[in-house]
Amino acid sequence: MEKEEAILNLIKVREIGVKTAKCLYGIGVESPEDLANADPANITDAFRRGNPKEGFYKVDVESVNKWILAAKSDNWEYSKAEERYDSIRRRTSDEDVEFNMDREAFRKFYGKDEMDRECAYCGIKESEINKLFTAGRISTKRWGTRGRAMEVDRRDPRKSYVHRGTESNIALCCYWCNNAKTDEFNDNEFFKIAQAIKDVWKKRLEQISKIYI
Ligand SMILES: [Zn+2]
Repeated sequence: MEKEEAILNLIKVREIGVKTAKCLYGIGVESPEDLANADPANITDAFRRGNPKEGFYKVDVESVNKWILAAKSDNWEYSKAEERYDSIRRRTSDEDVEFNMDREAFRKFYGKDEMDRECAYCGIKESEINKLFTAGRISTKRWGTRGRAMEVDRRDPRKSYVHRGTESNIALCCYWCNNAKTDEFNDNEFFKIAQAIKDVWKKRLEQISKIYI
C-alpha cells in the first residue's frame, strides 16, 4: 500500500496519531487490520530499537495493547460518522435541540468511511462533488470545512433530530441543500427547490465529463 494512504488509514484508529502511524508503517504495520493482528511485544521492541531520528520513541506494552484494542474494534471504519456524531452532539447541546440517537444507530445511518453517500434531496454523491472540485467547478470558500461530505439534515426542522423513539427525522444532505433548506422548509417543500439544484449539478457534471473524454 502507498505510504500516504496507509498513514491515512492508520490514523483512523482512535489511539493513533500521525507520528505513531509513520513509525508503524516503518516497521511493516500498514493497516488497522495489520495492527489488530500484531503482537504487542514485537511492536514495543521494534519501537525501542527504531531510530529516534526517524521519529521512533519508547512506548510501553500497555499503550501498544490499547492501540491494538482500538484497531480490533470496528469503530475505525466509521471515523467520519464518529466525527459527525460528536459535532452534532456539541452543536445540539449549544442550541438546546434534542439529539436522542445513540452512536451505534448513528454509525449505521451515516455508514462506513468508504461509503459514497448521496444527498436525499438533489441526489448528488460525495464522489461527484469531489470530481467537480477537482475540475474547479465548486466555488464555495467554505470547502475546507464543509461540502466534501454529506451533512445531517432534520427533514422537519421544527422537530428534533430523532423524534418519537424509532421514527427518524434525519436525512443525509449535501452542504448546498442544507444551506438552502435552512430551518425554514420541510422535506416535502424542499424537494422542488432541490430539483433545480439537481439540474445545475447535472449540467456541471456533463460539462466536466466532456472535458475529460
Ligand atoms: Zn443536495
